[in-house]
Amino acid sequence: MFTQDYKEQPYWWDQTAVSTQEEVELPKKVDVLIIGAGYTGLHAAIQTARGSRNTLVIDAEHAGWGGSTRNGGQVSTSVKPSFFELEKKHGKDMAFAIHSEGKQALQFTGDFIREEGLDCSYNVVGRFHAAHNVAQYEKLARAVEQQVSGLENHAYMIPRTDQRSELGTDVYFGGAIFPKHASVDPAAYHKGLLNTALSAGAVIISYCAAENINRDKNGFSVKTSKGIVLADKVIIATNGYTGSLTPQLQRRVIPIGSYVIATEPVDKELMDQLMPKNRIVSDTRKVVYYYRPSPDRSRIIFGGRVSLRESNPCLSGPKLHKSLSRIFPELTQTRISHSWMGYVAFTFDTLMHIGVKDGLYYAMGYCGAGAGMAGYLGMRIGQQALGLKEGHTAFNEIEFETRPLYTGNPWFLAPSVLFYQIRDRLNI
Ligand SMILES: Cc1cc2nc3c(=O)[nH]c(=O)nc-3n(C[C@H](O)[C@H](O)[C@H](O)COP(=O)(O)OP(=O)(O)OC[C@H]3O[C@@H](n4cnc5c(N)ncnc54)[C@H](O)[C@@H]3O)c2cc1C
Repeated sequence: MFTQDYKEQPYWWDQTAVSTQEEVELPKKVDVLIIGAGYTGLHAAIQTARGSRNTLVIDAEHAGWGGSTRNGGQVSTSVKPSFFELEKKHGKDMAFAIHSEGKQALQFTGDFIREEGLDCSYNVVGRFHAAHNVAQYEKLARAVEQQVSGLENHAYMIPRTDQRSELGTDVYFGGAIFPKHASVDPAAYHKGLLNTALSAGAVIISYCAAENINRDKNGFSVKTSKGIVLADKVIIATNGYTGSLTPQLQRRVIPIGSYVIATEPVDKELMDQLMPKNRIVSDTRKVVYYYRPSPDRSRIIFGGRVSLRESNPCLSGPKLHKSLSRIFPELTQTRISHSWMGYVAFTFDTLMHIGVKDGLYYAMGYCGAGAGMAGYLGMRIGQQALGLKEGHTAFNEIEFETRPLYTGNPWFLAPSVLFYQIRDRLNI
């Protein structure tokens, strides 16, 4: 099941070494302090440092330790609720504005990587979104057919009879292609951002946890594990790792474990048969699987949510392998070389959120779809901290909901996942 050199860490970390910056002394005072050095924090830092603000980014672990170097590297328009669901709740104009932000996030990510010359295997390979039953295929086909005018995403359907031209399996009932969705090497993208932020003049300090934030009329005093730093503005960029440092935000995000494996290298002929078009793949299950070839097409990177309770990668790996083998029986004997997990941040309305709470700027709640959106909203929150009008987004207008008695411990998760797993198994 496991290779001899099996690792419980992201496959991406083999390709891009964990970032180690020179030891820098904690500054006493900065214009902008950013807590969390993932995509959100670094994109915010690039804006504020380029806007001539003295910028410090700190992370409790090494920079990029969170979701930003653990993810599946699937870049999409990121907004989960449909236009019609959003229209019901927020009205037509807001639904339109939110979906437009999703399109902008995808466009921004590709443009930024290209313009900054980041070497991170960003490829517009397109997504195959596979239907796990006939009803879901028909639902997808209706969604592709009846797109809202002005919000059209280029998309088309692949019936089950033609499915093998996209994916070497018969387990699905056809699916939709979204040609503009892209794949990226997430850790290489992070490394590129880190270097860009450093070049812009930001200071980045790893292994420096923010422990307490005090606000007074002059700004903020933040106690960290390396000392106290004063800041005019503070940006919280902690997403799935948001903790008791910011209880008002912790009450609004639901941390959910997501699990990934990488296989050992497979033969080129087999890869060409299983993933002939190099697509990123997801399916219509509520408890979704997402997978893709590695950038060099040697391995399959396969992710999903595997356990009702949080489990460790040693236990989640074999479960994911079982699901992978159900889709591709040819991989039953292929071993796992890497297994890892990380936390995504869901929200009660399944939308991402950005704004200012208790004087603290924040952007978070990407609901498992932040590979593009986190950078985009990081860029926007950086602009907001600079006081720039263009930083304002549709998500600023949406209430960041919580629920009575919820303080950050998602006790309701296990029953909900069980509920959705049963629905998926019953093909509902
Ligand atoms: C396994 C997995 C697979 C995923 N796959 C995809 C995918 O294929 N496509 C997609 O679009 N999205 C995916 N995502 C989601 C995506 O990775 C995230 O939305 C995105 O990386 C969030 O970036 P971020 O910068 O906001 O947060 P993160 O990258 O999670 O960074 C938050 C950082 O905050 C730090 N921190 C927390 N508290 C403190 C503190 N008190 N002091 C200092 N630092 C602190 C943490 O150490 C952490 O490094 C996946 C996520 C995971 C975990």
